[in-house]
Amino acid sequence: MKKIAVFPGSFDPITKGHESIILRATPLFDELIVAIGINAEKASFFPLEQKIQWIESTFQNYSNIKVMQYKGLTVDFCKEIGARYILRGLRTSADFEFERSIGQINKQLDKTDEIETVFLLSELKYTPLNSSIVRSVYQLNGDVSSFVPDAIDLYSYKKTSK
Ligand code: ADP
Repeated sequence: MKKIAVFPGSFDPITKGHESIILRATPLFDELIVAIGINAEKASFFPLEQKIQWIESTFQNYSNIKVMQYKGLTVDFCKEIGARYILRGLRTSADFEFERSIGQINKQLDKTDEIETVFLLSELKYTPLNSSIVRSVYQLNGDVSSFVPDAIDLYSYKKTSK
C-alpha cells in the first residue's frame, strides 16, 4: 500500500518554512500532497489559482509532491484520496498546543483509526516565519524574497495584479 501524506494548510502564500517541512518529509512517504484547505469563513489573501501555481513551480522537479485543494474535514479528504498520514510543522510550544488539539480531534473524527498525524520540527532559521508576516511585509512593499521559495516572485505577481 502506497504511503501517502497530506500536508494541509492555507499556504497564503507558501513560505520557506513550509518548503523546508515538505522537502524534509518527502523521503518518508511515497507521495506527499500539499493540500490547500478552502475555508468559506476565512477569505484567502492571494487567489487560489496563484497559490497552486506557486506551490507547483516550487516542487516542479519532484514527481512525488502534488498540490490539491479541498473543502471540509482534513480526515475526510485523507480518506477520499487514500492518505494515512497528516503532516504538520512545529515551530514553538504554542504550535504544539494548537497542533495537539487538532491532532487529537482528528484522531477522534477518524472512525476507522487509520490516520496518524506526523510532526516535523521547523528548522531553527524558519521558526519566526509564517504566512501572515509575509503578507504584512508584502503589503507594506517590503522585500519578501528571502521568506518565500526561490521559484516564487511575489514582485512580478504584484505588477500583474495591479
Ligand atoms: P494554517 O492554515 O493551519 O494556519 P499554514 O498554512 O500557516 O496553516 O501552515 C501549515 C502547516 O505548516 C502548519 O503545520 C504549520 O505549523 C506549518 N508551518 C508554517 N510555517 C512554518 C515554518 N516556518 N516552519 C515549520 N512549519 C511551518
